[in-house]
Amino acid sequence: MNLNKNQKIAVETSDRYLCILAGPGTGKTLTITAKIIHLLNSGINPEEIAALTFTQKAAIEMRERVLNNLHKKEDLPFIGTFHLLCIKLLREFLPEKEKYFKICTRAMQKEIISVLSNKNPDKIIEKITKFKNTGLNLDEKTTEFYEKYEQKKIELNLLDFDDLLIKTLHLLNKKIIPPLFSHIIIDEFQDINKIQYEIIKKLLKKEGSLSVFGDPDQAIYSFRGSEIDLFLNLPKDFKNLTLINLSLNYRSQANIIYASNKFITANIKRFSKKIEPLRQKGSKLTLIEVEDEYDEGKTIVKEIKSRLGASDFTETYGNREETQCTFSNFAVLARTNRQLKIIKDFLAKAGIPVKTIRRDTETWIASIVKKLTELISGGYTSKKILKDIRLSEFLESSGILEGLNDLEVSMLKNISKSYDTGKLLEQIHAFIDELSGLTSFDLFPENLNAVSLLTFHASKGLEFPVVFITGFEEGLVPYTLSSDYDLEEERRLFYVGMTRAMNDLIIIHAKNRLINGKKLSLPISSFIKEIPSECIAIKEVRIKKDVPKQNGLF
Ligand code: ATP
Ligand code: MG
Repeated sequence: MNLNKNQKIAVETSDRYLCILAGPGTGKTLTITAKIIHLLNSGINPEEIAALTFTQKAAIEMRERVLNNLHKKEDLPFIGTFHLLCIKLLREFLPEKEKYFKICTRAMQKEIISVLSNKNPDKIIEKITKFKNTGLNLDEKTTEFYEKYEQKKIELNLLDFDDLLIKTLHLLNKKIIPPLFSHIIIDEFQDINKIQYEIIKKLLKKEGSLSVFGDPDQAIYSFRGSEIDLFLNLPKDFKNLTLINLSLNYRSQANIIYASNKFITANIKRFSKKIEPLRQKGSKLTLIEVEDEYDEGKTIVKEIKSRLGASDFTETYGNREETQCTFSNFAVLARTNRQLKIIKDFLAKAGIPVKTIRRDTETWIASIVKKLTELISGGYTSKKILKDIRLSEFLESSGILEGLNDLEVSMLKNISKSYDTGKLLEQIHAFIDELSGLTSFDLFPENLNAVSLLTFHASKGLEFPVVFITGFEEGLVPYTLSSDYDLEEERRLFYVGMTRAMNDLIIIHAKNRLINGKKLSLPISSFIKEIPSECIAIKEVRIKKDVPKQNGLF
């Protein structure tokens, strides 16, 4: 693939501080991969490089591409999430009696909190996380849970994801961890929080270089304490910051770009960016109005079936490629997981394979971690096995993979590829750390030929030829029910959803919907007024035998 002019500059420049602020589909993630390969090819020691991604899934893909360009696997630099980086640093720099901590996964957090309270554990964890990351006040009741929760973790020798960051920063502040990297590259910079930012500043060597890539319009994690204001701090903290814009969008047809770009200008707190479509205009966005969630499901099935097998044309910068439309071309997005559940049942009944983020990921991963830990602490036999084989062989021969499905096996093997060098015992420890740091987002079976069902949050960074956005109703989009409702963040979330689409964007509004057991008639989302009407075609769908309806939306 040929990089464009600005992508090339971002890859090759020797300017020390780089900020690549660019819209969706402009090749930020692709450029980061090219930059890592470029640094390695110019002879930089891999140990001097750290590339931070938002999910381990993104990291695994990036590693794969980098590995394909390397002669020796040993030359793979650190590519992973902040959490994984912190795990590695803490294992190395914590005092001996503390360094053998275990990771408190989300599932374990829930377990601890559930024992303490019969309230929704997700809400309590969310509050505690926000408190630990931003220092914002906790109410009295949550403070009580918080103290008991912290105590329980100490008893069990556990560190949760927030502790990993806080402890690492603490060791950096005390200069126990020295600055370690000469090249730090960060993807999805808009979603890092203050603690992560401080960690990065302290890990960078005095003469080191920092490159951040991000899009403030896609900042969607403020509940975890991320701050788009960090973009504003950059020029103050890093003098002579070089700003590069990638304005060419390779992903979406022009209509989608025009509509989404116009839509996001409704936000007041934002940087304006230039974005130019490379692809042709394409078809208009489609707005479909249906009766209820059942018709929504049926409509998606119908739209998918009508497109399957048809020829799809994707032009990338002069190359026109013909592909056949298959299940994996489609994604169905929604604001909440609950909405996706109903759609999943519909698609399954219609014989359409689906892939979705598994809520039980952490449970099966935890069982693998447990088995691995038992194996390596077992008797002599296992030590003998450990001697002569590599991690991937070990996984096969140890029985760890038994009982897993093909997908789970291929995911584990994929991750193990990055740990196939050095001493086996060390490889296994590193592998266990990486597994423990995975969240349900990270194990999305991307290669499976099936329709993706994703929340807006989980769709970040991905792209699909055909995207359905469901539940286009005021209350769901924007989601006004959350306790810390923020309209601008809701707009950014919808923007992330829209900009996943390459060729077709279909938005569905149901006039009635069952929400929390109540049948509600929510009006169409107010966001409709912010999408230019010339970009969108309205389609009325009548599935039931009722009176024809009017097209009365505008
Ligand atoms: P997002 O903000 O959604 O994460 P991004 O800026 O990271 O988007 P990428 O995912 O890196 O964008 O790239 C989007 C698409 O454009 C990918 O399919 C990628 O392969 C393609 N692309 C990027 N740069 C080029 C290029 N120079 N030539 C051809 N295709 C490109
Ligand atoms: Mg990206």
